[in-house]
Amino acid sequence: MYKSDFPLLQYTNVAWLDNAATTQKPQVVLDKMTEFYTHYNANVHRGLYTLSVQATALYESARGTVQAFIHAGAPEEIIFTSGTTAGINLLATSLGELLIKPGDEILLSPMEHHSNLVPWQLLAKRKQAKLTFFDLTSDTEIDLNTLAGKITDRVKIISLAHISNAAGTVHPIKQIIELAHKNHIPVIIDGAQSVGHVPVNVQELDCDFLVWSGHKMCGPTGTGVLYGKKRWLEQMEPWQGGGDMIKEVTLEQATWNELPYKFEAGTPNIAGVIGLAAAIEYLEKIGIKKIERVTSERYHYLLTSLQQLDFIKLHGVNKINHGIVSFTMDIAHPHDIAQILDEHNVAVRAGHHCCQPLMHIWQVPATTRASVYFYNEPEDIDKLINGLKKVYDTFRPHPESLPCKGGR
Ligand code: PMP
Repeated sequence: MYKSDFPLLQYTNVAWLDNAATTQKPQVVLDKMTEFYTHYNANVHRGLYTLSVQATALYESARGTVQAFIHAGAPEEIIFTSGTTAGINLLATSLGELLIKPGDEILLSPMEHHSNLVPWQLLAKRKQAKLTFFDLTSDTEIDLNTLAGKITDRVKIISLAHISNAAGTVHPIKQIIELAHKNHIPVIIDGAQSVGHVPVNVQELDCDFLVWSGHKMCGPTGTGVLYGKKRWLEQMEPWQGGGDMIKEVTLEQATWNELPYKFEAGTPNIAGVIGLAAAIEYLEKIGIKKIERVTSERYHYLLTSLQQLDFIKLHGVNKINHGIVSFTMDIAHPHDIAQILDEHNVAVRAGHHCCQPLMHIWQVPATTRASVYFYNEPEDIDKLINGLKKVYDTFRPHPESLPCKGGR
């Protein structure tokens, strides 16, 4: 139904089931970026000439679009970044510098993407602080029974994904934020797999920070957003120095520009940000609730289809998954599975999905992951299932290759 909006899906006819890695781009996003480069290209916040004024107006209007999309209180709370990874590194640097002292704890889940783990490891090492982790149940959910015991007064920052990129688990972020705030702990939400997929309202959630990547919601690569409550952003020092983030500079020192520019050093990804706003407008035209519902329908079709294959082992399936399924086959390595599926024009991801600690918990070196979005049709899932049957046929022991009875 929506596939015709996406030129790549038309040209290749691929069953694109790697949406957790990146999503395809609708024509309207590509057009908007081309329009910028062909009609308005200039640097922002600098020139006094018409083109720069127009480019600045488009860039700042995109900030307003993002603000409204996540229901942030003010445009200054929207910082453009290059993606989720950049947003978390910004926070691990600037918020980490503000809050973390030797002996303090940073609380994460053990199933975070490496980009929501390694920056905190680096901070902990710098500050002689400690990482602690929520417990998981055998269903790969955060264990609510031990939740309160983890949120102690030693914890100074909590950071976790809204939706896991390896398991699709939807974490109880509202409950965690409420508990954290009783202990005055700020909470960072990694929305890489949720923003643009399910409704996200930062004021309702009351999260302190939200980070995500444009490319996982139909926007261009190299774009992302850090939302932060103004009172935190105002207290934080910038993480990168350069043009645009300063007010006054002498040879010895500098003072900082106002929010959000304090955190946007250098020439930003202007065309990308404009493309990101076009992606938001496109998704909103369909309706985020509808996108959530259609993705959920595709997910359940995917899950029930996989459950009918007795040679497939599912990992991390629980009551509250969205869009993503990880699985293994005893007789074939995930890389072989993905390669054979590719021969049948089905794109899935194989590997550790930047979640090596979760692979250890699951006791597998890697999984194959299929992830759906609203533009997938049931036929994409049928293609996956047919491809998996071919994989099974290739790797299953064939009777003729078994040693003969009483063999020598
Ligand atoms: N967090 C999660 C939950 C993700 O799924 C991803 C991307 N797979 C990231 C962080 C990192 O995003 P990016 O590479 O766009 O910075």
